[in-house]
Amino acid sequence: MQVTSNSAYRHHDLDGNVIDLPPGKVVCIGRNYLMHIHELNNAVPDKPLLFIKPSTSLVTLSESFDIPVNLGECHNEIELAILVAKPLTKVNVEQVSDAIWGYGLALDLTLRDVQDSLKRQGHPWERAKAFDGSCPISGFVLQSNIKDPQNVGFSLKVNGQVRQQGNSKDMLVSINALLSEISQSFTLLPGDVVLTGTPKGVGPLLVKDRLEIELKGFFTLTTEVK
Ligand code: ZN
Repeated sequence: MQVTSNSAYRHHDLDGNVIDLPPGKVVCIGRNYLMHIHELNNAVPDKPLLFIKPSTSLVTLSESFDIPVNLGECHNEIELAILVAKPLTKVNVEQVSDAIWGYGLALDLTLRDVQDSLKRQGHPWERAKAFDGSCPISGFVLQSNIKDPQNVGFSLKVNGQVRQQGNSKDMLVSINALLSEISQSFTLLPGDVVLTGTPKGVGPLLVKDRLEIELKGFFTLTTEVK
């Protein structure tokens, strides 16, 4: 399989079938797992910390993906990803469930040195997190096939070693509460993706690193940093 360039990116299921939803924005939450907040010495937010990657951040997690060069460390952040199927504007928690197409895994690639510099200056994070290709993403599992999305394990191995391991039950803000919260500020559209935060274990990726990404009970993908 060839690396999919963004212009060719489409959402797809685990069998590679294209999902008929237009790739949209990627809404991310920062600091949704306590252990990760501690590893970066951040404060626990009293409201979810949100940021957005553009649709051009999406690339298929396939045999390999690119990371930026000469911009300092590029960190892995493995995250449970949600594919939105219906518009959500100012909805309550109960209205969220039937608007979810399914679940996958994504890497919220982060230029950590750039981000640290932006944070120090009080600037937005887009240069560190929203670059083209900053969201390599798996195929999606139909939501009806996941009995309890709020109790699903996932992991990232780098060169055979477990680097990140998480379970959605450890989220500070649950999936449905997160989508409801986002929808109070701006509309989620069909084809948008929501990333739900990363567990601890972020660290620099290097060219030629072999990654193994697993959604426990559903799929394992292997890929390489180009
Ligand atoms: Zn993240």
